Amino acid sequence: MAEKSSYKTTAERRRTKDQSFVEKEQAVVEGIDISGQWNRMYEPREIQDYDTTYLDKLTDLPGGESMGWCYQCAQCVPACPVDTAGGDYAPRKIFRRLQNGNDFFNHRDLWLCTTCQNCLRVCPKEVDMIQIIPAARALAVLEGNVPDELQEMFQNVAEYGNPMGQSPRKRARWTRKADAAVRVLPKDPAPVEVLWFVGDYYAYHGRGVDAANAMTRVYNRLGVDFGILGADERSDGDSQRLAGEPGLFEELAEHNIAQFRKYQFDKIVVSGPHAYNAIKNEYPKLGGEFPVEHYTQFLSAQMPKLKPLLTRPFTRKVTFHDPCYLGRHNGEYDAPRALLQAVPGIEFTEMYRCKAQGYCCGGGGGGMWLDGYAALHQTERLSENRVKEAVEVGAEVLAVCCPYEVSRFEDAVKSTDNDGKLEVLDIIEILDRCME
Ligand code: SF4
Ligand code: SF4
Repeated sequence: MAEKSSYKTTAERRRTKDQSFVEKEQAVVEGIDISGQWNRMYEPREIQDYDTTYLDKLTDLPGGESMGWCYQCAQCVPACPVDTAGGDYAPRKIFRRLQNGNDFFNHRDLWLCTTCQNCLRVCPKEVDMIQIIPAARALAVLEGNVPDELQEMFQNVAEYGNPMGQSPRKRARWTRKADAAVRVLPKDPAPVEVLWFVGDYYAYHGRGVDAANAMTRVYNRLGVDFGILGADERSDGDSQRLAGEPGLFEELAEHNIAQFRKYQFDKIVVSGPHAYNAIKNEYPKLGGEFPVEHYTQFLSAQMPKLKPLLTRPFTRKVTFHDPCYLGRHNGEYDAPRALLQAVPGIEFTEMYRCKAQGYCCGGGGGGMWLDGYAALHQTERLSENRVKEAVEVGAEVLAVCCPYEVSRFEDAVKSTDNDGKLEVLDIIEILDRCME
């Protein structure tokens, strides 16, 4: 007799499958009889066991809890600039990889986020990368797991008070070539209207110094009574905090707070969005509360005095890049636009992704020093993606108001073969060019 075949007909397979159902002979729910197939339930089935070691390690960190709230809706994926730049990223994907046992603390996922906050804007569960990422990086830094270029930046800031590793004594050197007088408060400590927190890139970087000189000329034409800390200023610390060095941030903040307390001034005016974010939102946690404005806020409030001075037309098509830490993080979209729209002859155009939906330049959250690392994991830099958009809307000038951005975008203009098509200018440079 032939052996019985193991082949099962469809009906047989269905019968076998049906055995995994539980079906009450009679089931009545709220007076309705649902006996029969309506009350069929699957018996508990075996599910895959996930290794949640690293997910637990992350969600146990103060600030890391919200990673566990993700319910995979994917709203964050198209919002994430790293994903758009080919990084296969966004909180949804990070959570999924964590569920699959990925060691987040030894993985590229830990370092690609720029803390731009665009995912939080759309996330229904408030998965907060602005808390998660710095908390996880701080642990990785303690465990000695940091990309080399970031480690070098931390060392420079710890040793010299700036990421370039320049001598602190040279911080005010740019003022020697300024066209107008700059009061250095440690040498001349009389009360002053504005304490101008110059920042690292304005003080040391070639293109930043151009903007610092422009700012000095504009302040002098407006008759602003201002002074700087000179060699006593240190990095604002915001990027170091976000990149995983909260201890270094505290040292820098405490130093700067102590300098601010030495002088009498009405307000601090900062050149950059990170200094603005740090002094406005983080220094108060360390006891340092000071009135602070970004320079675009300070100048746009002086419009009645400023506008009559803008006499030379600037007849170019200009678009504006919202810095994440001025816009999305601190809600300021109007002041930079008000300044640009006051410029005579300007043709202003918005990019598709602007204001709350603005696209990140890639420099936030320590990204300023991780371009080489990011290039290994993305198909393009975020700054390149942004420059292409500026060119696409027909802009001749990309206006910025963050000291990180001029050099980032100028590099991206070259690497995307747009040299000669798009000029990158700080808004203060445009204002300066329009004044006689
Ligand atoms: S938007 Fe929020 S909940 Fe939805 S997938 Fe992204 S992180 Fe998860
Ligand atoms: S903060 Fe920005 S870069 Fe980071 S995951 Fe969210 S959208 Fe992406």
